[in-house]
Amino acid sequence: MRVPGRYDGVARPIVTYGEDPVLHRRCAEVTEFGRDLRRLVLDMFASMQAADGVGLAANQIGVDARIFVIDCPDAEGEDVVGYVINPTLSLPDLHEGEPAEETSEEGCLSVPGPYADVRRAFRARVDGVDIKGEPITIEATGMAGRCLQHEMDHLDGTVYVDLLPEEQREQLLAEAAGPGGDLPA
Ligand SMILES: [Zn+2]
Repeated sequence: MRVPGRYDGVARPIVTYGEDPVLHRRCAEVTEFGRDLRRLVLDMFASMQAADGVGLAANQIGVDARIFVIDCPDAEGEDVVGYVINPTLSLPDLHEGEPAEETSEEGCLSVPGPYADVRRAFRARVDGVDIKGEPITIEATGMAGRCLQHEMDHLDGTVYVDLLPEEQREQLLAEAAGPGGDLPA
């Protein structure tokens, strides 16, 4: 999906784990479809790009709204670029030969530094609306499919480390808080 002018936005600071309750609760449905919404989506693309991420949910820049952006390669290496407002997640029928699930490394801009293996559906789909309220769909496989599921979790207040055993979560959060650390995907 092409998003004209997506680099016109202004990057905003990323909220890290435990820093702001907005990251840890379900985000609100978007009900106002005006200029501010367009600006927010542009700023989300800019924030994702500035942070070297492959996806970003609105609450990761402190905004309580059910929106995410994605710019991430799928299982074929094709970039999946787009955004969805008020998305719902579904797991569509697999194509021949595709695995139902895949375990792969996952990281998060809100837990900067570490990565951990997470099991996710291989193919995922989100349905929602664009900035004019018109229906849009993104369906993706591999890392992009994983990203759709990761961002949907964010909008429900779940960071990927919340899916892991407590001991592992605490270790990852300690690593994220430590000095240095590369930028995550
Ligand atoms: Zn994340």
